[in-house]
Amino acid sequence: MDGPAKTRGMSKLAVVCGGSRGIGRAVSRLLAERGCRLALLSRNEDAARAAVAALHGADHVAFSCDVSKEQEVQKTFEKIQSACGNISYLVNAAGINKDALLLRTRSEDMLALLHTNLLGSMLTCRAALRSMLHAPGAAIVNIGSVVGLKGNAGQCVYSAGKAGLEGFTRSLAKEVASRNIRVNLLCPGFVRTDLTGGLREEDRARSIPLGRFGTPEEAAQAAVFLLEASYVTGQVLVVDGGLQLAM
Ligand code: NDP
Repeated sequence: MDGPAKTRGMSKLAVVCGGSRGIGRAVSRLLAERGCRLALLSRNEDAARAAVAALHGADHVAFSCDVSKEQEVQKTFEKIQSACGNISYLVNAAGINKDALLLRTRSEDMLALLHTNLLGSMLTCRAALRSMLHAPGAAIVNIGSVVGLKGNAGQCVYSAGKAGLEGFTRSLAKEVASRNIRVNLLCPGFVRTDLTGGLREEDRARSIPLGRFGTPEEAAQAAVFLLEASYVTGQVLVVDGGLQLAM
């Protein structure tokens, strides 16, 4: 495992896309407790600022950035580089869902899902990589889903985007391993966040061997493990209370 969250005396800089809420926010909290400086991105800048204000320690920053928009991503990562220096960790936790049977899914919803959940991670990885070349022990965690591995009725497009992230993560891991940058995919099952707020946990929990949804902190612990596990790359880590066993 990597040592303390420091690179050449400076604390490590971690960029968390989707850091204002849910799993991204929980990852940010854990990383701040471990001494990282955080740059939190979300479309709603006030929410990202509020999340920054609640973090342990100082030197954290918030940016408004829609990860599905190429120009915005490019400009935001340029700002991060000039304001905060080289990026050690990138966590792609920005995501949306629009559950519907394929027959009832509008084309604009298909594009929104793929642009945010798949293209968004590609754009942020590309924008961060040059900076990460200069940060020893650099690592990326993308966030997929068990439904990207197993499929789920009512989530065809969401699942396709998440499955795409698996191929993207494994390929990028091969591309950048020689530069000592690691890339892994975290695949949660049901986690209690705004994204699952419309689901009744009592109903769904019956299909989960551990009998409950996970907490954002439980998903975040696994993400931080992947960031710090210095001999792990190109891997998929499933954190789902055993859900995948029953699918
Ligand atoms: P939340 O809805 O709680 O948080 C989503 C975060 O992403 C928010 O900070 C939101 O901020 C941000 N976001 C959404 N769209 C964009 C965008 N276009 N650009 C920038 N930021 C954006 O979701 P979760 O924490 O639950 O989900 C995090 C990731 O984990 C997602 O990729 C999701 O698909 C995945 N996942 C979640 C599971 C769950 O059960 N919760 C299960 C499996 C996977 P804002 O709205 O201000 O932009």
